[in-house]
Amino acid sequence: MRRLMVAIVACMLAAASWATLYAAGLPMPKQIVWVAGPFGLAMSAWMAWLAGEVPGIAASARRFWHRFALATGLVTIGTAIMTPARLSPESPYALRLIQIAAPVLATSILIVLYALLRLPVRTRTRAEWTRLGLDGLTVLITTALFLWHLALRPIAEHNGHLGVVIGLSLVGITCLVTLVAVLKVVMLGSGTVSRRSMALLATTLVAGGLSSAVSPLIATHPRLAGLQPMLTLVECLLVAAAARAQWRPAAAQRTARGGRTYSKLPYYAVGATLVLLAFVAYTDHRDIAAVATGAIAVSAIVGARQLVALRDNQRLLAEVSAHERRLRHQATHDALTGLVNRNHFTELLGAALRHPGPTAVLLIDLDDFKLINDTLGHAVGDEVLMTVAERLRGAVRAEDVVARLGGDEFAAMLYEVPGEHAVGVAERIRDVLTTSVRAAGHELLVRASVGVATSSPELAEDVDTLLRNADLAMYAAKERGKGGHFVYVPGMTTRIVAHAEIGARLRDAIDAGQLHLQYQPIVRLDDGRTVGTEALVRWRHPELGVIPPGDFIPAAEQTGLVVPLGRFVMREACAQQARWLRELGASAPGYVSVNVAGRQLTDPDFVTDVLAALDDAGLDPRHLTVEVTETAVVDEAAIAALQQLRDRRIRIALDDFGTAASSLGLLLTCPVTALKLDRSFVDEITTVARQEAVATAVIRMAQALDLDTVAEGIETEAQARMLRHLGYTFGQGYLYSRPLAPEDLARRAAVAPPAFAGLAVHHAT
Ligand code: C2E
Ligand code: MG
Ligand code: MG
Repeated sequence: MRRLMVAIVACMLAAASWATLYAAGLPMPKQIVWVAGPFGLAMSAWMAWLAGEVPGIAASARRFWHRFALATGLVTIGTAIMTPARLSPESPYALRLIQIAAPVLATSILIVLYALLRLPVRTRTRAEWTRLGLDGLTVLITTALFLWHLALRPIAEHNGHLGVVIGLSLVGITCLVTLVAVLKVVMLGSGTVSRRSMALLATTLVAGGLSSAVSPLIATHPRLAGLQPMLTLVECLLVAAAARAQWRPAAAQRTARGGRTYSKLPYYAVGATLVLLAFVAYTDHRDIAAVATGAIAVSAIVGARQLVALRDNQRLLAEVSAHERRLRHQATHDALTGLVNRNHFTELLGAALRHPGPTAVLLIDLDDFKLINDTLGHAVGDEVLMTVAERLRGAVRAEDVVARLGGDEFAAMLYEVPGEHAVGVAERIRDVLTTSVRAAGHELLVRASVGVATSSPELAEDVDTLLRNADLAMYAAKERGKGGHFVYVPGMTTRIVAHAEIGARLRDAIDAGQLHLQYQPIVRLDDGRTVGTEALVRWRHPELGVIPPGDFIPAAEQTGLVVPLGRFVMREACAQQARWLRELGASAPGYVSVNVAGRQLTDPDFVTDVLAALDDAGLDPRHLTVEVTETAVVDEAAIAALQQLRDRRIRIALDDFGTAASSLGLLLTCPVTALKLDRSFVDEITTVARQEAVATAVIRMAQALDLDTVAEGIETEAQARMLRHLGYTFGQGYLYSRPLAPEDLARRAAVAPPAFAGLAVHHAT
């Protein structure tokens, strides 16, 4: 490539020095310069061919370069044929040669056009195409005006060498058409042929047009004959440079952008025609009509183009703003249900609270939605959420806002609505949900707990306060049972704040010895004898009094404090059990059951701690039961810990059995020895058939798996009878005894006959 380039430059230098000397009037042989042109052309054709051989080049670009090389080859032949005619235009065969060369050259230009048009272009809108077409027309008319005034008319007036004139002007005009085509392709950016190459080729074609335009000049000033081959060589050089650019990888990668210069092109065209018009007006009046017409036409076209561009811009603007609206909607609405999202809801609530008049907030939480999602799959869950969203929308006025805050949590904001009315809406929500939801062939009963809070002008609540109040009310509603609603009452807050404080003070409570244990007897249902006890932790707070575990265990779990707390309980319970065995002998309860939280199970020191507690108390592991809830045993680490305990003959009871969703699978993976039927089933066992059914199912399962069963929360003789009838062996509840201080339990044990004689005797000996 470099050598070819050097050859072309050499030709150019030779031609240039020749042209200068010839113009200066020195007698130089014309042949030399006419040979240099075709030679340079042949070199550039070769280079164009090589550009198509760039490794990894796109197929479309390769075809383009090969076609272009072919066209350049034809130009070489045409020029070679034409050369003798140019050398001596007066000779009789000159016209004949021109007649032969003209179709060859015309073909070459057609090939270039074809090559250009076949290049793939970026897709554009119709308006863009129109604009490009109008721009092309502008350039064409402007150039035609110049060509007409500066070249063609003088030639026509000269009226000499008609053949040369016609041939060259044809070539010139075709070049202009090609120029337009190249401009088009450059603007479109094919992305295959390097943009730099394309720009250079466009310049080449301009140079081609120019070299045609100088013919009349040469015709009148024969001494300038060297000018034309010089221009031809410039073209060769440009083609060579374009071919080289294709070899530069970076250039090939650069994709086309609509050039900034390009967008000014129409204005340049208008400016140029106006300058020409002024020039003609002052110098040569004969052309004024033609040039003026042309100038008007160009201005009109540019005007039309602006109109098209304007319309296009307006369309674009409309698209952009529609897109913006869509984005805004996406940012403020929930994708699944189309309801307002949490962010936007708080924004709207903030705005509403700035107005006087009450605003009510309803927090709506679906009960058991997780169960639907887990058992029937997310698709069904989504369908349920969509239906619920629709019904909620229908339950409020059009001006009220319904939002999905996330998951199965919804909210409604009612403008200018006092508390009583808000309750009415909460009831309406309950009503609209009573109809079952159809989802993927399932008929699902969805219930929701609703918390209601209303802003009061006196209190001037902010968004957070109001939402928290509604949240508290919602939790209160949930506590009272599913599918209910609860209105926030001032003072609910203090309980929660106290709750948070409890967590913070628990640490000190352990150190300050404010914790102690009570023991609730676990009895044999047949005869009411105590077989074991459950250790239940109590916190005697110096100011707050005795705090039930339900109030601080959850906080302790959250903070991780349940680990040291649980360690204390375990040590204390083991020590107590050992003490009873020592002091009461055969009438001592057989085992102590200790509640263990999930967080404790996954603590790496848990097993070691339990074994140390047994060791220090001198207690046989068979006298210990570890009580875990199903939800605590969620991962393999927890199961592994339980397995290690079981390996040492510590018993494992599943607490609150039947209240979580995963019970059955767990029975197979977890080394359980006893099931504790949750209090909620026992509560209604004598009145609700469904509860009885569950209790029956649990006992069947326990019998099949050879597990002990303990029924929790037995309060009436009827319940005890029913449970006995169902086959439960052990029970626990106020009917037998409330949780007791150790000495009370010892007193009770002393009067009652020995319960679990075998074990107790075994240990007493
Ligand atoms: P749980 O393990 O299911 O304990 C049984 C709860 O039912 C105890 O409440 C007990 O006092 C109560 N109960 C017993 N018989 C009856 C009855 O006939 N009727 C009624 N209504 N209730 C009865 P408590 O002591 O308030 O404990 C609540 C929960 O706190 C326990 O439920 C247990 O999950 C947790 N807990 C208690 N002590 C500890 C502990 O030391 N560590 C851990 N991690 N959790 C504990
Ligand atoms: Mg328990
Ligand atoms: Mg329980």
